[in-house]
Amino acid sequence: MFKKILVANRGEIALRIQRACRELGIKAVMVYSEADREAKYVKLAEEAVCIGPAPSSLSYLNMPAIISAAEVTDAEAIHPGYGFLSENADFAERVEKSGFQFIGPTPESIRIMGDKVSAKQAMIKAGVPCVPGSEGELPDDPVQIRRIAKSVGYPVIIKAAGGGGGRGMRVVHTEAALVNAVQMTKAEAGAAFGNPAVYMEKFLQNPRHIEIQILADKHKNAVYLGERDCSMQRRHQKIIEEAPAPGIPRKLIERVGERCVAACKKIGYRGAGTFEFLYEDGEFYFIEMNTRVQVEHPVTEMITGVDIVKTQIMVAAGEKLPFTQRQIEIRGHAIECRMNAEDPYKFVPSPGRITMWHPPGGPGVRVDSHVYTNYFVPPNYDSMIGKIIVHGDTREQAMARMRTALGETVVEGINTNIPLHRELMVDAKFMTGGTNIHYLEEWLRQHER
Ligand code: ADP
Repeated sequence: MFKKILVANRGEIALRIQRACRELGIKAVMVYSEADREAKYVKLAEEAVCIGPAPSSLSYLNMPAIISAAEVTDAEAIHPGYGFLSENADFAERVEKSGFQFIGPTPESIRIMGDKVSAKQAMIKAGVPCVPGSEGELPDDPVQIRRIAKSVGYPVIIKAAGGGGGRGMRVVHTEAALVNAVQMTKAEAGAAFGNPAVYMEKFLQNPRHIEIQILADKHKNAVYLGERDCSMQRRHQKIIEEAPAPGIPRKLIERVGERCVAACKKIGYRGAGTFEFLYEDGEFYFIEMNTRVQVEHPVTEMITGVDIVKTQIMVAAGEKLPFTQRQIEIRGHAIECRMNAEDPYKFVPSPGRITMWHPPGGPGVRVDSHVYTNYFVPPNYDSMIGKIIVHGDTREQAMARMRTALGETVVEGINTNIPLHRELMVDAKFMTGGTNIHYLEEWLRQHER
């Protein structure tokens, strides 16, 4: 096992990884930008290194600064968290070339999955169901593009191979708009992602976002830890997640979970990963794979009892997965609400000093957050200030616990989206379960204020 790990991230996930290290008896070196000097995990750290000024490009995305921080502190491995450099294959490669273990998959796996065209091709080969569409990158010839769209069937969605974060996509309803839309998406993709390649998929009208969590070791063992429903999104950003997904037959989940495990074995995947699917009319359609730990991993931890972050570290150190698929049991129901420092209805970011922080507690309530009373939320990064996660025997009990937890939560000095969560937890449709990816935006339109 490692003696010392460098945590190359910030915010709640930096604290989460620090906690996992403590439990494993590993020293955690924290890095921070000048804006994060006051962060809780920096104050709690045995060792912390300032890696640069506030802008991420000069700190959390600064590869040489992070690698030299690992060198001067004698860390053996680097945990990238999520966001920032976590899915950057060049970073993973530089980490390993510098003699450190990257806590994640190999640079090759990251590279394959980072390009959505090659990811999809790998999935088709491995027997994972995908959205029908073009076989690979779209050609330039307008006649061929029209022919492909016709066989896929309108509406179609044009997506950038290098896209991410909900950017680089365009829906096309008619043949008249097709070629122009392809050209525009290509131009934008070239400018935004440095890769003009685009591909086409059938546009699913009312899908849900369902994802499968997997864990794999370096000894060809892999398991899936059930699914999460992340359909409550605004502008493709998830705000509420839950597990299991309401109303999906276990048999279907098992079938797709087994395909994901088979795919991991086929590509030699190691570490934690998530297969994201759209789910419509009883069918799963793969859209992309995330090769890192996700914000919403705690709901899976709550229903399986598996510590995903600890397991990531253990398998990176070469240990075998400590459980088999048959030992994974799903118990109860978990829900996560992301707390963002923003106006709850207009979504304008609200950084600043938190004058009062009172997190909820009680049975089945978990709060993953790095903030505290008098903490200053810097304006430089993502607005998420933490997550409330609840667990109950049933979905109803989990919802009741979340309502109680949200009712107890006090955050003063900045705006947060907690009032929005409180309303959503008593919304009749959400309470029934199974809302699709458009539901939250429709709800927001109807409740405009
Ligand atoms: P990103 O990497 O930018 O998040 P994804 O491929 O994961 O891109 O897609 C993001 C979101 O775009 C999905 O959650 C879904 O809301 C929408 N989307 C993507 N592909 C399709 C599709 N074929 N049909 C309908 N919606 C889609």
